[in-house]
Amino acid sequence: GDFVRNYSKKIGIMGGTFNPIHYGHLMIAEDARCFCNLDEVIFIPSGNSYMKEADDILPGELRFQMVKTAISSNSHFTCSDIEIKRTGNSYTYETLEELRKLYPEAELFFILGADNLFSIEKWRCAEKVFKECTLIAASRGEVVFDSLKKQADSLKETYQANVILLPERKMDISSTEIRERILNSQSVRYMMPEGVCNYI
Ligand code: ATP
Ligand code: MG
Repeated sequence: GDFVRNYSKKIGIMGGTFNPIHYGHLMIAEDARCFCNLDEVIFIPSGNSYMKEADDILPGELRFQMVKTAISSNSHFTCSDIEIKRTGNSYTYETLEELRKLYPEAELFFILGADNLFSIEKWRCAEKVFKECTLIAASRGEVVFDSLKKQADSLKETYQANVILLPERKMDISSTEIRERILNSQSVRYMMPEGVCNYI
């Protein structure tokens, strides 16, 4: 009724460059939602850093539109422009602080692939990230599942991080490969939702 509060609302955060978004992103977000009973997954495209702008990264607004297109059929998926609206680099700990203000009672989860579980210790204010949310990590690429488990254990041990590993699944797909295929005029159909292909 009227007095029900959001105490136990579980919110997953799916951060990424999404240049472009593809089925690997959508699959780990849906896996995380189902495995951890999340009420909602918020996709948050990263802002354009000066470093990456020199590269071939599309403007935030375009990546945001592609994400919106990709998630439109899933009522549990939403997307936020808080990082693309920020100038300069966007740091995950700042995003979590902002979301914490918006959802003071919610339980926050950060969804990420294996590559990022191995680099997260180097992120700006990583200990704040560990404190503010539970990590949900997905297997990816050549990373052996056992070494992913070891990395999760090491983060728990060293930083008291909360880490949940998703059951192993390999979606051998990356935005890098999609960009290369487009440059080489190769097909990228079925690597991402059709709406995103059309958008590109
Ligand atoms: P790029 O090749 O440009 O780095 P990407 O495919 O790695 O693109 P990102 O936007 O960098 O996509 O990734 C966002 C998040 O999704 C990261 O945590 C990343 O590890 C995860 N991710 C992306 N693709 C996969 C995949 N195929 N399997 C598991 N995790 C993935
Ligand atoms: Mg990546």
